[in-house]
Parts: sequence; C-alpha cells; structure tokens
Amino acid sequence: MMALRNWARAVWMGLKTTWIGLTITVPYIFRRPYTLQYPEEIPEIPPTERGLHVFEIDKCIACDQCAKICPVDCITIEAEGKGKTARIRTFEIDYSKCLFCALCCEPCPTECIHMGPHFDLVGYTRDEVIIDYADRENPRVFSGEEKIPYEIVSFSRK
Ligand code: SF4
Ligand code: SF4
Repeated sequence: MMALRNWARAVWMGLKTTWIGLTITVPYIFRRPYTLQYPEEIPEIPPTERGLHVFEIDKCIACDQCAKICPVDCITIEAEGKGKTARIRTFEIDYSKCLFCALCCEPCPTECIHMGPHFDLVGYTRDEVIIDYADRENPRVFSGEEKIPYEIVSFSRK
C-alpha cells in the first residue's frame, strides 16, 4: 500500500511540475524572438550609452585635464604646445583599463571628449584595445563627425 502511495505521489509531482514548466515556456512560442543577428543587426543604443569615446581632435587644447582626472590613468596625451595651437601627436585610451565612468568628459574646457555609442571593441592582445584617437588612419577611431552615426552624449555641466 505504501509503495502504491509513493508511486501515485511521484506521478502526481511529475505531472504537476511538467504543467508548471509548460505554462512558462508555451507562451514564448507566440512571442516575437528577441535574438538579433549581430553584427548584421545592431541593437538600438540609448542616447545615454557610455561606450567608446568620441574625440574631436581639432578642438583639443592638450590641457591634460581629462588624463589627470581619470581614476585608472588610462589616457596618454602627447602634444606639441598647449592651447589652441597645440598639435596632438598621441591621444591614447587604454580600453583594457577604462571604466567607462565618463569622468574625463566633465572637466574638458572645450567639450571635445564624449562618451559615444560604440560598444564593440575586441582584440587578441591588450595592446589591440588601446586606441589612439590622434591616428586618423585607424579605422576604429571615431573622431570626425562623418563617423559618428549617433548623437553625441555630452556630460558637460554647462
Ligand atoms: S571613462 Fe573613466 S576610466 Fe575611461 S578614460 Fe574616461 S575617466 Fe578614464
Ligand atoms: S580635457 Fe579636453 S581639451 Fe584638455 S586634453 Fe583632454 S580632451 Fe583635450
């Protein structure tokens, strides 16, 4: 009698848990899929995205404010001169360290560094995720309005 009761209990639990599982999964058959065929399909990026930086090199005055405030010291700037006549030789951001905190955008007096919408950056070595925004030939550099497909998000206090 005990064995029969255990058997009936096991059958009941099997049916019950199957039913609970089906009530969760079956509705998904009638919903639209969430999957995107990335990178052919790009997800919609919210305007507040803190992705790879957008740097307007022609406005930079090489004041180093962004590099000084960076909490992980991942910005390297080399320039000839300071101010409006400065020639930026190197403006590197090491994305193996960057926190995407946007602190570097805050003190910039000319509002030339922004958090951009680009989020995909890969490399086989750490060196490959260091981007030199002064290297206009680098295909991963998004400086220049023609290469910015989304609205620039400025974190300026003004
Ligand atoms: S986002 Fe933050 S961590 Fe990245 S470069 Fe700017 S200040 Fe540094
Ligand atoms: S704070 Fe702005 S102007 Fe100064 S070095 Fe950085 S990006 Fe250039």
